[in-house]
Amino acid sequence: MFPTEDSEFDRHHLWHPYTSMLDPLPCYPVISAQGCCITLEEGQELVEGMSSWWAAIHGYNHPRLNRALTDQIAKMSHVMFGGLTHRPAVELGRALLTIVPPSLTKLFLADSGSVAVEVAMKMAVQYWSGTTKTKQKFLTLRGGYHGDTYAAMSVCDPDNSMHALWKGYLPEHLFVPVPRCTFDQAWDEREADALRAAFAEHHHTLAAVILEPIVQGAGGMRFYHPQLLKRVRELCDQYDVLLIADEIATGFGRTGKMFACEHAQVSPDILCVGKGLTGGTMTLAATLTTDCVAEGISRSPAGCFMHGPTFMGNPLACAVATESLKILAEGAWQQQVLSIEQQLKVGLGPLINHKNVKDVRVLGAIGVVECYRDVAMAEIQAFFVDAGVWIRPFGKLIYLMPPYVISEQQLAQLMAAIAEAVGQETLFL
Ligand code: PMP
Repeated sequence: MFPTEDSEFDRHHLWHPYTSMLDPLPCYPVISAQGCCITLEEGQELVEGMSSWWAAIHGYNHPRLNRALTDQIAKMSHVMFGGLTHRPAVELGRALLTIVPPSLTKLFLADSGSVAVEVAMKMAVQYWSGTTKTKQKFLTLRGGYHGDTYAAMSVCDPDNSMHALWKGYLPEHLFVPVPRCTFDQAWDEREADALRAAFAEHHHTLAAVILEPIVQGAGGMRFYHPQLLKRVRELCDQYDVLLIADEIATGFGRTGKMFACEHAQVSPDILCVGKGLTGGTMTLAATLTTDCVAEGISRSPAGCFMHGPTFMGNPLACAVATESLKILAEGAWQQQVLSIEQQLKVGLGPLINHKNVKDVRVLGAIGVVECYRDVAMAEIQAFFVDAGVWIRPFGKLIYLMPPYVISEQQLAQLMAAIAEAVGQETLFL
C-alpha cells in the first residue's frame, strides 16, 4: 500500500507533467515495472500501452539493459565530458553511426529530447553565422511538436501549444499548414504548394526546416505522406536551407523503419534522437550532423559549437543506450513491429464505424483512435486502470504505442479496453 502521507506529499509538492498544483488529477503510484506490465502499489497489474511516452521499446526491467547499467555503475556513473572522454560514449557513437544515414558523421550527446532540438537549432544558426548569409528563421509544419524549452516551443504548432502563453518571448518562425495527405492516400502535388511558396518568399532568411518526419506525435498523432518529406528535401537543396529531422519519437523502429526518414529515402542535415535511445531507462538524446555543417560551425566566428551541458555524454546513459542499440541490431524489432501493426489494423480498424470515432489510423507500432469529443481525463484514466491497462489519451486522441515485445494477448487487452471506452459517453466531455 502506498502510504496516504506519500500520496498527500506528492499531491501537494510534486509537479507532474502539464498539471496545476491547485487541483491536480490523481496519479497512480507504481511500485515496479516488468516486461510490458506496470505494477501499482495496490498490487494491480496494468498492461503498458504507452512505452512510457515512446521510450521503453524493449519493455521494462530488461536483464540486458540492467546488466549494462550495473556493469557501468561499478566503473563510474558520470564524469564531465569537457576535457575527458570514455568508452561508453565512443561505443555509443560508433553504434549510432552505423544505423543513421552515412552522411551524418558528427554527434552531440545531449541530455533530453528538448535539449537535442535546442542543439539542432543552434547548430543551424551557428552554421550560417559562419557564411556570408544571415539566416536565423525556421520553417516548419503546423501540427508539430518538438519539446518544451524555448527554441523548441517556438516551432511547435502555434495554435495547439503554448505559443499564445509565451507570445512576445518566443521568436516567431514560419509555418505551413498541417499536412492533409495521409500516409496511405494517393499523393496530391498541391500539398507541397504552401511549402514551395514559403521557400520562394523566405529562403534568404531560412536557416533550416525542422519537422517530425512522417509522424506528427504530440501535436496530433498524424501520419503524412512520404512524398511531402521528399519535396521538403528537394526544396532545401534547391534553396540552400538545412533540414532538421526530429526523430525523437519516431526513431529506433517505431514506424516500421529504423528511422521514419527512410519511408521517403531522405537524409537530413541534422537528426535528433532521444526517448527510445536508452530503451527508456535513462534520459539521453543525440543530435547528429554532417561534416559540412560541423565544419561550418567550427569555422564560424565563435570557432566552436557553443553548448556543453553538465551531464553531456553521461557514461551510464551511454552504456545502456549501446546495449539497447545492440538489441535492435539483432533485428527482432522488425517482425515485432510488423506483427503489432497487423494486429492494430485488425483490432482497431472496425472502431471507425462507431459514432464517437472520427478516424482510426495505424503505422508501425502506433495505433490511433481519434474521437469527435475530448476525453474526460480523470474518468477515462480510472476506467483504463480498472480494465488493467495503462493508456493515457490526450484531447480527442486515444492511442497506443506499446513496447515492441508486447504479446498478442496483451495487445488484445489494450484494444478491447479502447473499444469499450469509446462506447461510454461518460468518458467524454
Ligand atoms: N521532439 C519530439 C518529436 C517529441 O515527441 C518530444 C517529447 N515528447 C520531444 C522532442 C522532447 O523530448 P523531451 O521530452 O525528452 O525533452
